[in-house]
Amino acid sequence: MFCNIIVTRPFDQYFTYKLKKGQIVKEGTIVRVPFGRTKNQLGMVIETMRTLPEKKEYKLKNVEYVFEEILLSKQIIRLINWISDYTLEPRGLVLKLFLINNKIFEENKIEQKNNLFKPNVVKLNNDQAIASQKIKDLLFKFYSPIVLEGVTGSGKTEVYFEIVEEVYKKNKQILIMVPEISLTPQLEKRFLERFGFNPEVWHSKISDKKRKSIWSRSYLGEPIVVIGARSSLFLPFKKLGLIIVDEEHDISYKQEDNIRYHARDIATVRAKIEKCNIILSSATPSLETQNNINKKKYKHVFLKSQFSGIELPKIELINLNENLLKKDKWISQPIIDELTSCLNKKEQALLFLNRRGYSPLSLCFECGYRYQCNQCTSWLVMHRSKKRLLCHHCGVIYPIKSDCPKCESKESIKLIGPGIERIQEELGILFPQYRIGVMSSDVANTPNKIKNIVENFENNKIDILVATQIMAKGYHFPNLSFVGVLDADAGLTGGDMRAIERTYNLLQQVSGRAGRANKRGKVLIQTYFPDQEVIQSLIKRDRKLFVQQALKDRETFNIPPFTYMTSIIISGHAKSQAESYAQKLVQHNFSSKNINILGPVEAPIFLLRGQHRYRILIKGSSRKLLNEYTKFLLKKYPLPPSLKRIIDVDPYTFM
Ligand SMILES: [Zn+2]
Ligand SMILES: [Zn+2]
Repeated sequence: MFCNIIVTRPFDQYFTYKLKKGQIVKEGTIVRVPFGRTKNQLGMVIETMRTLPEKKEYKLKNVEYVFEEILLSKQIIRLINWISDYTLEPRGLVLKLFLINNKIFEENKIEQKNNLFKPNVVKLNNDQAIASQKIKDLLFKFYSPIVLEGVTGSGKTEVYFEIVEEVYKKNKQILIMVPEISLTPQLEKRFLERFGFNPEVWHSKISDKKRKSIWSRSYLGEPIVVIGARSSLFLPFKKLGLIIVDEEHDISYKQEDNIRYHARDIATVRAKIEKCNIILSSATPSLETQNNINKKKYKHVFLKSQFSGIELPKIELINLNENLLKKDKWISQPIIDELTSCLNKKEQALLFLNRRGYSPLSLCFECGYRYQCNQCTSWLVMHRSKKRLLCHHCGVIYPIKSDCPKCESKESIKLIGPGIERIQEELGILFPQYRIGVMSSDVANTPNKIKNIVENFENNKIDILVATQIMAKGYHFPNLSFVGVLDADAGLTGGDMRAIERTYNLLQQVSGRAGRANKRGKVLIQTYFPDQEVIQSLIKRDRKLFVQQALKDRETFNIPPFTYMTSIIISGHAKSQAESYAQKLVQHNFSSKNINILGPVEAPIFLLRGQHRYRILIKGSSRKLLNEYTKFLLKKYPLPPSLKRIIDVDPYTFM
């Protein structure tokens, strides 16, 4: 007997192996085979054969080991094929996502565990009850996404917990996806309070033992609830009944390294294949999702008021052309006044600035020299708390010197612009008697550190928190009554439409943070462009207006969701070689008016980690056509070994 096997290596094709006597396999069986120099390569059987068409048996290697008890389902095999076809990633690497690592299969003992299911009845308000009933009516029969939209603080979580309860009672498995692991601790706590048992938490930082246990229990079809980051999508659930994609608009769902995929989109496909329900939850549904609602492909359920019944915070603009900032200061007088009154009432405040570190640019005022990374096209960001300069693209650290390395002038380095550390410093001078905290990915880089900061803020151990976008997620702070947005313009100006959507969502979310428990909060936004349409729809809280306008713009400029895009990024040490290969790719004249090739151009970050980068953008009216064309190109022009090539299907970043 022989079998064809996909191995967990970057290959799309299968390899033929001989079976030893007594080895029994089927489609989906996981095996270990010798491959190249490795003896223990994991693979999956895709078909078995009694004879081979050609007489080449003598060359074939044997299957080393058969995991008789591990068989991936037909649905999962279909999903693997779909992901590979869509993302143009080799089947072998997609399979690897589902098998994680060899350790999963090392021993066969699986710990049994019973959940103590003791749900607490929660009183829903009228809005929530209607929404929950609407979704319940669709359960087990509608497998396209149901969008649960609700303003910040409207209680979406309570609504989807109702659905979780309903599905869990049917002994089904449930996956709740969150865009970042920083969101898991608060959700875990709420889950425990609601259901009386702990959900399983799945992300890259859990122990191998835990990983193995969750993998096995999903595989065996035990009734578990998993809260997980992107990779939880590849658990081998046997009885999946419900997927919830929380904060569905969050771009963290787009995986940007290794295999590039959008977890929300794959979740949608998985739900369809497995015939299970899927809920996309968000205060700010993505324009892609919004477009699917408009086209009636997705169902839409809307929570219009805050759970507390209190009005959403009042948003006011501060026109920085009139309220001039003092030299090297970034907090305007109206915000200082509001902070004073907020602190006097023993309430808390959040200042939002989406810029890490102390200052984004350091330059010499004698000769104009700017500290720049040796390896990337990027300025170095000053991080004063850690006493260093940091490249935000490659992570290289440079020492801080106060003398210019170029003209050697003494003490000539000037720090330009603020990051959150600098705002913290400014606040320290204004409000010396109060506790001021910062939160960004630099200080909150593990789930525990995040938990600490969040708990300190919850427990009133921090009076003013200065935070980056990391705070604009689904946190909930009862005593927070004032939010100040220091720079609304970063991101709202410029041509990147996704950046505009992202910034809008960010500001809408941040503006929903204030005054959630029992009093109406206040939001002040600093801007130099108060008349901008985007800013106006934000203060009027008219998201519909924004969505309408944004979708119209996208249609006019022929960008997603009205067309499909694929990016190809070519990089290499030798500039000329990278450039000439990129040129070669676009030379080929494709005779179709449905395909449009742009580039190659030098990438905005032209130099990254010492590699020169060129970008090509291909647009097409159908994904199928576009993928066929891309595949054809890549086959016709094989990549020289000294270059690197990234294929980004549905790109979200263009750096
Ligand atoms: Zn200088
Ligand atoms: Zn760098």
